[in-house]
Amino acid sequence: ALGIALSLAACSAGGRASTDSSGSSDSNKGALVGVAMPTKVSERWIKDGNAVKSDLEKAGYKVDLEYADNKIPQQVQQVSNMITKGAKVLIVASIDGGSLSDQLDAAAKAGIKVISYDRLLTGNKNVDYYVSFDNEKVGVDQANSLLTGLGVLDADGKKTGEKGPFNIEVFAGSLDDNNASFFFNGAMKTLKPYLDDGTLKIGSGQDQLSQAATQQWDPATAKARMQNLIAKSYSGGTTLNGVLSPYDGMSIGIISALQGAGYGTSDRPLPTITGQDAEAASVKSIIAGQQYSTIYKDTRKLAKQSATMAEDLLSGKKPEVNDTKTYDNKVKVVPTFLFQPTVVTKDNYKEILVDSGYYTEADLK
Ligand code: BGC
Repeated sequence: ALGIALSLAACSAGGRASTDSSGSSDSNKGALVGVAMPTKVSERWIKDGNAVKSDLEKAGYKVDLEYADNKIPQQVQQVSNMITKGAKVLIVASIDGGSLSDQLDAAAKAGIKVISYDRLLTGNKNVDYYVSFDNEKVGVDQANSLLTGLGVLDADGKKTGEKGPFNIEVFAGSLDDNNASFFFNGAMKTLKPYLDDGTLKIGSGQDQLSQAATQQWDPATAKARMQNLIAKSYSGGTTLNGVLSPYDGMSIGIISALQGAGYGTSDRPLPTITGQDAEAASVKSIIAGQQYSTIYKDTRKLAKQSATMAEDLLSGKKPEVNDTKTYDNKVKVVPTFLFQPTVVTKDNYKEILVDSGYYTEADLK
């Protein structure tokens, strides 16, 4: 009864310093925020983790930043520990978006707010906010840059009249990551008219998400699939002209398979290959004329937004969102703040990546 009386008193006190379910703003000063990241194998998540940590620390919060080595049980354990340690907000970039349900329930019980970071947490109502890039647009941009690289579209995205036919293969990300289908569907929707009119042909016929998927976005898995596709569909002198790849690390594996099969010479140039994340190794590959494009998603912006959301939640403010209809996690539509992606090629990498301070020239040497 005392607890009820206290919380009623807090309610009627009103104003910014009043109690919400994660406590009053005063008691949240210096609170602990748990930040769960999937892996250090990909450079982007290191940038994300560091930026979220430093933004939150600058704002006076304590941060428990953990990486799970792409192992689901490890991430489950890490998030459980954050709850036990008394974190007041969790910022989670999941490995498998559906694997943290017990932790999300425990968090809700303890009044902990949850921000889904870049990848949507699925199958549970206790996901308060989502911050990401427009994931469907990423796929659309990847497909359009593939078309530009092949010469079907010009630099302004207008049809050149080039009708090919071009042989392509398509890759997708990990099916336990909600983003993978957004990227793939956005890309395939964009490629469809060109597949329908014969400008493009998927040599292997493997055009379904389930066929194109790459468990855990693994570069070695992508490389092995590319080797199989070459053996199956391109051994008789048929040339592969383009590859839709959703992620830079996979593009590196794909390029390696192609080089192993004799692509990358003046007689037999590498196909047009896309990517995502503007990772340094792949930007170098773009500069060297191997990979054609990548999708730049400024991790500093994503990090800043998630830190601002966390601060808002800890001080009883309502975080700003700009999308309330796209990201249905199978139980609820999660209020979302989305940023827009940018296509990067050899032509604009300096302006987009170096002038913005994301990389120095030396990082890309
Ligand atoms: C992210 C991409 C990233 C991929 C692999 C996705 O969830 O949105 O930026 O390339 O995971 O790490």
